[in-house]
Amino acid sequence: MNILYKRSSDERVNWVKSVPFFLMHLAPLLAIMTGIHLMDIILCIVLYIVRMFFITAGYHRYFAHRSYKLGRVMQFVMALGGTMSAQKGVLWWAGHHRDHHLYSDMPQDIHSPRRGFWWSHVGWFLCDKFKTTPMDRIRDFASYPELRLLDKYPLVPPTLLAITILMLGGWSALLIGFFLSTVLLYHGTFTINSLSHVIGSRRFATSDTSRNNWFLALITLGEGWHNNHHHYRSSTRQGFYWWEIDASYYILQLLSFVRLVKETRLPPKEVLLRNRLRDGAFDIGMFEERFAKAFQALERTKIHGTAYYESKRAELDRFMKEARRTASELSRVSQHPVLD
Ligand SMILES: [Zn+2]
Ligand SMILES: [Zn+2]
Repeated sequence: MNILYKRSSDERVNWVKSVPFFLMHLAPLLAIMTGIHLMDIILCIVLYIVRMFFITAGYHRYFAHRSYKLGRVMQFVMALGGTMSAQKGVLWWAGHHRDHHLYSDMPQDIHSPRRGFWWSHVGWFLCDKFKTTPMDRIRDFASYPELRLLDKYPLVPPTLLAITILMLGGWSALLIGFFLSTVLLYHGTFTINSLSHVIGSRRFATSDTSRNNWFLALITLGEGWHNNHHHYRSSTRQGFYWWEIDASYYILQLLSFVRLVKETRLPPKEVLLRNRLRDGAFDIGMFEERFAKAFQALERTKIHGTAYYESKRAELDRFMKEARRTASELSRVSQHPVLD
């Protein structure tokens, strides 16, 4: 692994505290003993879709990016719905996500796949270092006491949901309807931090490795258009064209007809035309990806600390800085402003 992306000694999975997370993956297997009913499967699908909507439209597009407006009651409903997915508190989630956009695929990006694929998928939040809410990043929403309360006790709503399901539907409903859908929801959401920076196509030259991936867009209700999103994150709609299915946006549009959602935003025309790879924009994100591989090759030589190693590292560093400068200049000259 590139030394710049190497994890420090305090960036390790806390296996003991992560036991409940792993047990949740095993819980649905107990359905062998209870049997599975059609209603359990329907509940599993419904809870997956509804909670995925609250995560993508609420936690992500509203709380992390403020890409549309909500009244205070609807804001709370969105936060509560997202909290039901047991993906920690709304301020924690949105605050860390803002960090991701600030440092996408740079050494400070806590869940870049450059730090390891499984780290980007699950490792980073099973580590104690990132368990607190980064209040500095989310001061705007942290001023609401009801959101602070939800963020402080994020396990209460999903626990109450699980108990309600158990009481109304029995054990099989709990195992399949709640636990299986929650686990599927975890991995559906996490693919956006892992796979959507690895597999898919790129329309826009961005300074990260984000991709557009139709399959990830389907299972995450629109989040798989991740290269579009990194290109222009203040758009409510992440599928920029009609063929880029974005279910969350369609639901938000329906809610805007009844005025529960306001001021949804689309990418302006000039944004759609800016930095397109097909027009020859310099793809600094992928260029850096190749450089990261060169650093990895150097790391594999196992000559760390020697004068030769240091001189080669300095050389690669110099090349990288030069490449960034060139990319920035070319982008300016060719009117494809890639780097901010
Ligand atoms: Zn985002
Ligand atoms: Zn990303």
